[in-house]
Amino acid sequence: MPELLFLLLPVAALYGYVMGRNSYRQSQLKQHEKINQDFLSGLNLFLSNQRDKAINVLIENLEVNNETFTTHIALGKLFRAKGENDRAIKIHQFLAQQDVLTPEQRRQSIIQLARDYVDCALYDRAEKLLLPLLEDKACAREARLILSRIYQTFKDWQQAFDAIEPIETQDGEPYQVTKAYLLCELASEKATHEKIAMLKQALSYDKKCARAYLDLIDCYIELRESEQANQLSRVFADTCPDFIALLVPRLAAVFPDDAIRLDFLISISGQIKSTSVVAAIADIMERQDRVGDARKSVLGMLDKHATISGFAQLLKLNAKKTDAPEAQQMMLNLEKMVVNKVKQLPSYECEQCGYQGSLLFWQCPRCKHWGSVKPIIGLTGD
Ligand SMILES: [Zn+2]
Repeated sequence: MPELLFLLLPVAALYGYVMGRNSYRQSQLKQHEKINQDFLSGLNLFLSNQRDKAINVLIENLEVNNETFTTHIALGKLFRAKGENDRAIKIHQFLAQQDVLTPEQRRQSIIQLARDYVDCALYDRAEKLLLPLLEDKACAREARLILSRIYQTFKDWQQAFDAIEPIETQDGEPYQVTKAYLLCELASEKATHEKIAMLKQALSYDKKCARAYLDLIDCYIELRESEQANQLSRVFADTCPDFIALLVPRLAAVFPDDAIRLDFLISISGQIKSTSVVAAIADIMERQDRVGDARKSVLGMLDKHATISGFAQLLKLNAKKTDAPEAQQMMLNLEKMVVNKVKQLPSYECEQCGYQGSLLFWQCPRCKHWGSVKPIIGLTGD
């Protein structure tokens, strides 16, 4: 498809050129014919895949004006999308130097050039282009977004947050999510009480910020403020059900009493499909010598939500129920094999780009979205 667009762009440019020129006076026709010929030769170069020569023809012969500006920009973006950044830079640099452009077109050219530089990891050049644009209301927002992305690359969380903070959006929108997670990064370097204040601020930007909840719960566990930890755990289960597998390991500290923890786990197991939750229920029941109830819980889950981990849990419980030592050993060996196999599978997946891995990243290492990498739910996951 991009190849097709490459072929169509010169045609679109040619059309714009021809249409734009129709109203010109007769005396200019000769010059137009020359440009037309030059452009056709550029088109020919595109068709024969000689893109560098085609760019030269485009830059040298296609006058930049209102009709052709869009074509130049579109072509530059296409080159960048295909990873041909040197070509994109050449076009955008050429545009940024044109005196005939309107202020808006000039801004667009500079922004596109900065994007090219970011994609080439020429961050210092991009920053130099973008900083002066912060004073320009018309493009400050876009400049701030790119600058924040640059600072995030260097894990300079304070500058990344300062760059994006003035951008106004609604709660839960992508940039609010980014602000919330950047505050979580900043909070992780602070002492507990300051950390709590920053994490609460993060939740004011994004009420579904899973990391802010979990870090807050850890703070309250550390401060032994069990009531706060209890309340937040309940809110977390309602607000961030996709991340419930991350809360389960903390529950023994949040609800030290087995009976209260069991009540909480049972209350959420009705709404959330999670092997971790059911496994935690089964563990408590097993300790209470209720192996039969534990098996029932796991079987009930497997009936609606089949997972390999759930199957391993069932094998372990079946081994406890059997009196035959050989069969018991065989089931425990099988359970061990299944558990080891599951450990080799990715546990997390990015809902934005499909990245999978065995470690949790709050910012996806591939697409750079915040909070989009989640525990995998389903047969091979939770
Ligand atoms: Zn991603």
